[in-house]
Order: sequence, then C-alpha cells, then structure tokens
Amino acid sequence: MTRKILILPGDGIGPEIMQHAVRVLEAARDRYGFEVELEHALVGGAAIDAEGTPLPATTLELARAADAVLLGAVGGPKWDALPTAQRPERGLLGLRSNLELFANLRPAILFPQLASASSLKPELVSGLDILILRELTGGIYFGEPRGVERDASGQRRGFNTYVYTESEIRRIARLGFELAGARGKRLCSVDKANVLEVTALWREIVDEEARNFPDIELSHMYVDNAGMQLVRAPKQFDVIVTGNMFGDILSDVAAMLTGSLGMLPSAALDANSKGMYEPVHGSAPDIAGKNLANPLATLLSIAMMFRYTFAQARLADELEGAVSDVLDAGLRTRDIAQGESASVQLVGTDAMTDAVIKAFSQRLDAS
Ligand code: NAD
Repeated sequence: MTRKILILPGDGIGPEIMQHAVRVLEAARDRYGFEVELEHALVGGAAIDAEGTPLPATTLELARAADAVLLGAVGGPKWDALPTAQRPERGLLGLRSNLELFANLRPAILFPQLASASSLKPELVSGLDILILRELTGGIYFGEPRGVERDASGQRRGFNTYVYTESEIRRIARLGFELAGARGKRLCSVDKANVLEVTALWREIVDEEARNFPDIELSHMYVDNAGMQLVRAPKQFDVIVTGNMFGDILSDVAAMLTGSLGMLPSAALDANSKGMYEPVHGSAPDIAGKNLANPLATLLSIAMMFRYTFAQARLADELEGAVSDVLDAGLRTRDIAQGESASVQLVGTDAMTDAVIKAFSQRLDAS
C-alpha cells in the first residue's frame, strides 16, 4: 500500500526544516518498507507570492487527495500588511475547514533531558506526557449569530454564540475515549457545566459515551480548575478533551510547561483519521535561513502521523525514541540549550535532523 503525503513547507523556517525532515520518511521507506509517495505544494506567503492566494486550488486538491498533510509554518512580516482575508494564516484555516479537521491533538511531552527548560520545577514536569484533545470546528469560534451592533440606546454591543450539537460533542468525546484507550486509560473532560448550558449538555453526552468505554476512567473538571491543576500538578492528567475555546487556552498553557516551542508537535484529524500534522510554532522570521531552527517539533509531528493516520505505532515509537537518543547524546539547538552544562553540543537544524535520522535508522535496523 502506498500512502500519499502532501508536503507543505510554507514560509520562514518551514522550508529549511522540511527539506531535512522529509528524509525521515525516506528512512522509514528504505529501512521498514513504509511505502510513501510525496507531493509538494505551496501554502501561505509562498503561495501568495507565486499565485496571489494563500491556498491555491491545486494545493487544496492535492490535500484532499492525500492521506496526510505535513505542514511547516506560514506567515512573516512580508505579508503582515495584507487584509486579514488574504493573509498567509488564511491558508491554514482554509485547509482545516475544507478538510473537516474537527479534532486537534496537542501532546505536551517533556523529555526528561529538558526538564530544566520548563518554567515549573523539574520534579513537577520531568517525564510529563499528556494529550490535549481540542474540538476544532465548532463552539463559540464558529457560532452564529455573532457581531457588534448598536442597541436601542446607541451603545455598541458585541456578541458571540457558544453552540455545540449533540453529534459534534459525541464524535470528539468518542475520539477522546479511543485516544485514552491507547495510552493511560484516563480521560478528563473539561467544561463549565455549572454556568453554561451548552457545556452541561457536553457533560451529559460525554457521560453517555462513557458507557461504551467501560475500561476508561472518566473524570470531569471545570475549566478554571483545569487551568489551575495544569500548573499545580500537570502529571495527574492523561488525556484531556474539551471544546474549541477552552482547548485553545489550555493547550497553550500545557505547551509552556514543556519550556520550548521548538519541541511541540500537533495533529488535526478528520472523522477517518486523515490528518494535517504541523509543529505548534510559527515561521520564526527572526531566525529563518540561519540554520538555527529546532526541527524536533516537525519530526515529532511526523511521529504523530505514523501513529494516528497510518497506525504505525512502531515507527512512531522509534522516531520518538530517536529524538530521545539524540537529546541523551547532548545535542541541542540553541532554543533548548539555555542553562545547560558544558556537556551539551550546540548544533544547527541540519545536524540535529541528521542525528535523529541516524538514530531512527539504527533503531529500525536493530530489530
Ligand atoms: P513563532 O512561533 O514563529 O516564533 C516565536 C519565537 O520562538 C521566536 O523567537 C522564534 O525564533 C522562536 N521559535 C519558533 N519556532 C522555533 C524553532 N523551531 N526553533 C527555534 N526557535 C523557534 O511565533 P511569532 O514570532 O509570533 O510568529 C511569526 C510568524 O509565524 C507570524 O507571521 C505568525 O502569524 C506565524 N505563525 C504561524 C503559525 C503556523 O504556521 N501554524 C503559528 C504561529 C504563528
């Protein structure tokens, strides 16, 4: 079976990371028989420059035809003056909505080797491995009616609508239980059911779905408490499932527990596990073209692709293991080297990727 992967390098550090990162897929093919066909296309600022739009029709067509999409990053000062509807980021939003990617998976994993990079005490975060599952296509970010209008007295009034249908809640809840089933078997659903009716319904549906997953331990938590618990004792969580807005906020909090943007992968999945995989970081124009970018978030996004779209847990485990091997060996890009001892070796994007691919290949060959 040949899998089709669409590569969208994007802007800034996206292309320089991607040019090295795709070699991981070649290693998986050569060493493990993971047959893969790669297509490349433009998105974001690069697509604006070449075709006048952040999401050309050909890119969307290729994305629809692919089994998975791997994206670098989009954006940069060159396109900042454009109106919102024409900006590079629109390319990303267009892909998410056109591909119906309703589930955003954001793991927060802290490799023990980097525990000192977190703003929390090392013992609170060392070995942290939690997964935040955020509903991505519904909730208050999309609800209608929305707008700003004048009331009878002439005063302006802004409003949004927080709405979820039963089926939207059910499909994200089900995925939450399934993901928990493949990990630590604990799911925490986050809501504000004491104040918002829509999230009281959320809680009711999650409870209903729980009956189909008797081996998963379900808990519920109000979002204010969840924010507090994430910084107090983050290792208490396994999988957190929540709506769009709460997930947006909590996943950023969880991300920062790990200390570095350069280490954080993400996935957005549709109902058939087709996914778009991308690092959480942006295009980092300040370091673009300098061989300083940390490629590990992108490499870990490829590991997620192996795991969630292609059900290749072995490849995912070995790639994550390879990242850990390289950190054990003391290799660090500049962003994760702060405060480290003399035993670390400062490397660039290319050398870091080479080292991970070498460790990955050795792991695949060893068994
Ligand atoms: P950013 O994530 O690009 O950079 C923030 C800081 O982190 C910078 O100092 C940068 O050098 C550093 N950094 C980011 N990724 C790194 C990596 N892999 N290795 C080492 N250091 C890294 O965020 P920003 O500066 O707010 O945004 C820059 C551009 O990226 C903007 O145009 C923004 O709209 C866009 N953006 C895109 C995405 C995306 O494509 N998903 C996400 C966020 C921001």
